[in-house]
Amino acid sequence: MTIRKQSDQIFINGKIFTSNPVQPFASAMIVRDGKIIWVGEQSDVAIIDGDYVDLQGQRVLPGLIDAHLHPLWLANNSTQIACTPPIVHSIADLIEQIKNVSTTQRKDHWIEGWGYDEGKLVEGRSPTRWDLDKASTDLPIFITRTCTHIAVVNSKALELIGITEDTPDPPGGKIDRDSDGEPTGILRENAKELAQRFMPAPSLEENAAALTKLSSFLLSHGITAITDLSSRTGPSDYFEMYNTAVKKGLKQRTVLYYLWEDVKENPQFKPETLERENQVHIGGIKLFSDGSVSGKTAWVNPPFLGEADNYGIQTTTKEELLAAARAAEQHQIQLVIHAMGEQAIDYIIDTFYDKKPWLSDAPSIRIEHASMPTLHAIQRAAETGIAFVTQPIFLFAEIESYYNNLGPDRTKQTYPIPSMLAAGIKMAFSSDAPATAWADPANPFIGIKSAVTRLAYDQSDTGQDHRIDVTTAIMLYTKFAQEITRIPAVGQLAVGYHADFIVLDKDILEISLDQIDTIRINQTYMGGNLVFGR
Ligand SMILES: [Zn+2]
Repeated sequence: MTIRKQSDQIFINGKIFTSNPVQPFASAMIVRDGKIIWVGEQSDVAIIDGDYVDLQGQRVLPGLIDAHLHPLWLANNSTQIACTPPIVHSIADLIEQIKNVSTTQRKDHWIEGWGYDEGKLVEGRSPTRWDLDKASTDLPIFITRTCTHIAVVNSKALELIGITEDTPDPPGGKIDRDSDGEPTGILRENAKELAQRFMPAPSLEENAAALTKLSSFLLSHGITAITDLSSRTGPSDYFEMYNTAVKKGLKQRTVLYYLWEDVKENPQFKPETLERENQVHIGGIKLFSDGSVSGKTAWVNPPFLGEADNYGIQTTTKEELLAAARAAEQHQIQLVIHAMGEQAIDYIIDTFYDKKPWLSDAPSIRIEHASMPTLHAIQRAAETGIAFVTQPIFLFAEIESYYNNLGPDRTKQTYPIPSMLAAGIKMAFSSDAPATAWADPANPFIGIKSAVTRLAYDQSDTGQDHRIDVTTAIMLYTKFAQEITRIPAVGQLAVGYHADFIVLDKDILEISLDQIDTIRINQTYMGGNLVFGR
């Protein structure tokens, strides 16, 4: 046995699922200087010196890794209007909410909201500038759709941005217009960026403080490692912002993925920003090849239901993909590409099918969401070593949009997780929070429940053939997510790994599947230290 020191922590009496296939279950762990030095059965632990922690027979899992998250948006959403149930059920509700806020708003501020989904609004349509004008004509209003790829603004905002009926659509974007050619206020993809340039940005310190607050909230959901898939170099640089948050108390191990449009302008990274042993580091370059299923902007084939010529939007070119890949290769980081529709996924696989991977320890290319791959695409992605990072919460939360835009049969063929795993594709689960229509979008247990039941929140069938078992779902949020995010020594409870683990109030391996979303975290440990306790 290991020689033990006074400072060792001895965790006993746990029902530990380790995510280590060699030794999946254990009841005790010994931790020294933040790392696990021994895992096994309690009966093998002799009476030794050290601090004993009784896990009280509760289920223990490795700390969860959210491989695709937008922490800054999530943090800032708390200061915006939540345009989702249970607060907003209709455009009329939305107008009321904005009116409430506008009376207290400073005159130079934009009113912001997030999360609307026309499928969940009783009017069954998106709000327009004319709806929002009923709330205010002198304050600019900017409301982001649940997918985050589409926004609706009021007439005051259009005036400030300078969008008129003569403004052309920007490349990769669309300004919706009515039958007279008047902009309706709905701005898709890159057209949304036109507005964002005019919106005042919070300071780096304000953002860092918001991230620090979010860190505690995510620890209460068992999330000990995070990613930011929309990292930017300006107005505040995210590496600096997250490191400032760490000084204020952000605990999670954090990987940043910088947007290609920013990297293209500033192609150099300082060596310390790429060092994976640092709590915050840069892991990849991100770009978009299409929009969303729920916003009918995913680049699909066949077209969206009932719209024979709507195949969605292609938002990048082969040249851009290859240029971004060269930059990723140069820095030895990943190329991370958003793709939901069949055509978008095929386009990426075709572009990179013959290209040699540049990373040896992990997939060089990740496809984010990978909602609608054909079986052929799955085979080819597996052959090329392209990873898929998906979000099982989408089908659970956005079922109205999926059924409306694809129909029930096609919806049930989306996210064929067992086929992807069987083909040998490296995969991870994640939440994409806050880019989904759910009030608690970062809660990993909602995604796990969706993946193991393939039932939506309203019990709609989302594809019974594509269920996975609970341990596989946990692996996708732990060990498999580590293999994709490349964060050192996390995702398993094994010798040499950080003692990052969570204690659940109910045993996820015992309770009925429909109860999984009621699981709460009793304690979260990082490096053997209690960082959250109920
Ligand atoms: Zn995202």
